[in-house]
Amino acid sequence: MRADVVVVGLGAFGSAALWRLAQRGVKVVGIERQGIGHPFGSSHGSTRLFRVACMEHPGLTPIAQKSLELWTELGERTGEVYVRQTGSLNVGAPGSRPVSGARRAAAGAGAPTTDLSHDELTARFPQYDVRPEDVAVWDPGAGICYAEPTLRAHVAEAQRLGATVYPHTMVTAIDLEPDHVEVRTPTISIHTDQVVVCAGAWLGKLVPGLPLSPRRTPLFWFQPKDPASDAFQLKNFPAFIWEFPDGRGLWGHGSDEDFLVKVGLDGAKRARDFDPDELDRYIHPREDISELAAAITASFPDLDPEPVKVTPCMVTDSPDGQFLVGRRDERLVIAGGDSGHGFKHCAGVGELLAQLTTKETPYTDVSFIDPLRY
Ligand SMILES: Cc1cc2nc3c(=O)[nH]c(=O)nc-3n(C[C@H](O)[C@H](O)[C@H](O)COP(=O)(O)OP(=O)(O)OC[C@H]3O[C@@H](n4cnc5c(N)ncnc54)[C@H](O)[C@@H]3O)c2cc1C
Repeated sequence: MRADVVVVGLGAFGSAALWRLAQRGVKVVGIERQGIGHPFGSSHGSTRLFRVACMEHPGLTPIAQKSLELWTELGERTGEVYVRQTGSLNVGAPGSRPVSGARRAAAGAGAPTTDLSHDELTARFPQYDVRPEDVAVWDPGAGICYAEPTLRAHVAEAQRLGATVYPHTMVTAIDLEPDHVEVRTPTISIHTDQVVVCAGAWLGKLVPGLPLSPRRTPLFWFQPKDPASDAFQLKNFPAFIWEFPDGRGLWGHGSDEDFLVKVGLDGAKRARDFDPDELDRYIHPREDISELAAAITASFPDLDPEPVKVTPCMVTDSPDGQFLVGRRDERLVIAGGDSGHGFKHCAGVGELLAQLTTKETPYTDVSFIDPLRY
């Protein structure tokens, strides 16, 4: 079999690359080891936080803006909504990363924000049991993106545009030859000009020598103590990031669909540097839940600290917390090292991968995510 480009791994980054390549009329084949939208990698669990004011790096803002633009266009065609800009709350002491970082990132992105004093914060959001020094920055352009539906829409749109997709097919070798690449699976071998590898936590197994560190990071959902209360519906409890004085912090958002409130703990002690095929998928009540439950008890007294749903998931960290997106070899382009903040950027990263593969000029500076920077 022959192709212009093979995309390996159809999670967040790979599904978007497939779509953006197919959009250009490239003869592209996507290969995914599991089913499309499966729960074994990093992109499942219905939602992710969305922001264009990105405190992780100013270079991320144009990538999130590109995602929003592409998802809006896709939604106009499919009639679906991939991002809901409900606004988000950045909470902490005045010098904390969410507060000062969000303000700085929003100013850099030209995005308007509103400062909330301690009293304004507690009056408007009584769900929060904040410390006396806590204030907030309200970012109206932020919100949530719908992870699994978006990923499936990328793949469906790519197929509509002519891409070939092999789900449940594991790539076992990528042989870089002088004049082509041979992508091997147990059933087929594809002769291609270039390969784009977006294998998430498995990227380091397919492309050795990358400084990547998978981290076990389960997803948790909770319910209000009073099931009749609407305090934790999305409209009243929008996306938030909250930093504590010890550097840890909570993030999450409410929900008005299944009424499951998503909350996670930044800085929690979690296993890392394991083989992703060996990820511990068992949820350990004490090690996995007690630290987060204690933080919820102290921070949201009206939320039941006992989770109603927990799903294993993985983040893949890079040494500087930035992605690895770019050309690794004349015929090999990669995207990975999501460092826990990749979903909101995935359509924009897919567009960059398509541009790099077809040798177009990238729409934004990619030097800070160049895999050759290490
Ligand atoms: C708990 C948690 C919370 C998060 N919160 C946010 C958030 O609020 N906002 C945000 O923007 N981001 C967030 N993220 C990060 C975001 O989810 C990730 O950045 C993103 O999902 C990474 O996508 P990926 O394509 O790199 O990996 P994946 O989605 O895992 O895709 C990799 C794919 O490659 C496939 N694959 C691997 N090996 C092979 C092979 N040999 N052959 C074929 N296929 C293969 C895998 O099966 C998988 O489908 C969060 C992540 C976690 C875990």
